[in-house]
Amino acid sequence: MKSIFKLFLLLFPLISFAAPINVESIKLTSSTLPTRLTITLNQPAVYRVFLLDHPDRLVIDLDRAVLHIAIPHLADETIKSFRKGQFDPDTLRLVLDLRKPVRYNQYFKPKTHEFILDLYPVTAAVIKKEKTKIIKPIVAKKIKKPKPREINVVIDAGHGGKDTGAIGAHGSLEKSVALSIAEHLANRINHEKNMHAVLTRGGDYFVPLRDRLFLARKDKADIFISIHADSYTGAGDARGVSVFALSASGASSEAAHLLADKENSSVLGGVQLTHLYDQSQMLRSVLIDLAQTATINNSVRLGNNVLDALHRVAQLHDIRVEQAPFMVLKSPDIPSVLVEIGFLSNPSEEIQLDNVHYQTRLANAIFAGIYEYIKKSTTTSPT
Ligand SMILES: [Zn+2]
Repeated sequence: MKSIFKLFLLLFPLISFAAPINVESIKLTSSTLPTRLTITLNQPAVYRVFLLDHPDRLVIDLDRAVLHIAIPHLADETIKSFRKGQFDPDTLRLVLDLRKPVRYNQYFKPKTHEFILDLYPVTAAVIKKEKTKIIKPIVAKKIKKPKPREINVVIDAGHGGKDTGAIGAHGSLEKSVALSIAEHLANRINHEKNMHAVLTRGGDYFVPLRDRLFLARKDKADIFISIHADSYTGAGDARGVSVFALSASGASSEAAHLLADKENSSVLGGVQLTHLYDQSQMLRSVLIDLAQTATINNSVRLGNNVLDALHRVAQLHDIRVEQAPFMVLKSPDIPSVLVEIGFLSNPSEEIQLDNVHYQTRLANAIFAGIYEYIKKSTTTSPT
């Protein structure tokens, strides 16, 4: 008790007389999804973000912050209005009144003291609709000739919500790392004129595996990429990237089989589904379907392109595309791969995977692999 009291006395003057945190600018970018709010501060701050409903609002509380700049007029398809309040004498409260429910991602850039808040409409279907609404009229005005068909890439960030996926040695969650890389990849793809990315989840919430397949079909996916991170609890320090395509007759190796069990286990809240692959005649017939065989061949080609590109920026766990019966890869006519972007169980790789620059490099490499695959598959390149 005595030492805690001393510590308090030591910190107290620092806390009470430290210079207040200034909000230097507030910017809204909503021409592309997600809607991004950037709040620039003059120093790091302690903050809290949370949602309220009836009506939908998003609240940002910044400790010890003051706002001397004029309140900007912020409004778009997601945000109705923006206002400030003083939650208590020491807390600046910023409130976004929303037009619709959102999910959000937030992070702080320590170098520039920028607090970034990305807002996503609740479902991937809504994201798709909004994007179409924003982009299509602009393109239609500029280009008179018929617009070439867009190549739709559905990106699936593994796990989410109650299903955290693997947990790293330092506590990183697979669901968060996977979502971050999926978002970088979606942004990169959406920079291409004739490509379009849709996320199966745009925030930290649970989406059943079958719904992810359904979304891919509904969004007319040409390519499906599932992003996961690995973990290994056995002896040795496993590390590196693996790429998987669907196997026609079960896992190509025992390791792949075990991994398939792990990644499939969220289908029915942890019920193991391995036996289903052996016993269900219907699933077996789907697996041996000729159309699916052709799709699997394309998936392996796609996987090889992605693996080659990833090899330029990351160590590989396996130099070949592995094959396993992952549920999310089972669309019979959509080339699909699952990328395990590294081992969170490996402490040094976990640090890398948490780094936004490394995440961007991985996302750009996956994009390069997809691009190469499209280039080889079509006579016209996607741009
Ligand atoms: Zn996973």
